[in-house]
Amino acid sequence: MTSGAAAVQSVTVPGYHGRAVRVSGGSTIRVTDVEGSQIGDMFAISEDDRFEYLSPAQTRNFVRRLFPSIGDPFHTNRHNSILTLVADDSPGPHDMLFAPCDQKMYEEEGFVGDHRSCRGNFFEATREIGLDMPVVPDPVNLFQNTPAQPDGSLALFETLSRPGDSITFRAEMDLVFVLTACSADLGEINVNGGKSTPLRIDVTP
Ligand SMILES: [Zn+2]
Repeated sequence: MTSGAAAVQSVTVPGYHGRAVRVSGGSTIRVTDVEGSQIGDMFAISEDDRFEYLSPAQTRNFVRRLFPSIGDPFHTNRHNSILTLVADDSPGPHDMLFAPCDQKMYEEEGFVGDHRSCRGNFFEATREIGLDMPVVPDPVNLFQNTPAQPDGSLALFETLSRPGDSITFRAEMDLVFVLTACSADLGEINVNGGKSTPLRIDVTP
């Protein structure tokens, strides 16, 4: 390796799948929407203790917003900073209110048979790296355009992200970073561009 250049670890998350990556504290993590209009469900779990993970509720509590601003932290269920929002090179918005999609949700939408989901993909991805998670934490839904309205309702709009748009975080502890390319491809208003397409994770130490 040439001196001075940090090696970037790039991981592609195929559509309808998830990936888990071990990341050292201080690293930069960039998530890119490769083809556009793709939601990414993001999870972060402490490397030292799988019972400590990013909590959207604790994050909202701390930043007093529905999503952190640039420079703000994401907190864990134990009130520790786990990620910081460094840059947002996408139109946003991003969601921290919706649960990850799961088999039941697709059945409720009328789908018959097995449908891939962020819940299933979370377990697949974590098992693949030998991490046995007891629960699926609530996710941060990157690029998901479902903003709260003044009357308290949650709108379902199409995702605005374009090919190559990205969002960047700094890891504040050693962690397992999990990203699932949301499998949503049904529904009257499709929030995920009608199909699931790849995302890319770039980790710079
Ligand atoms: Zn999903």
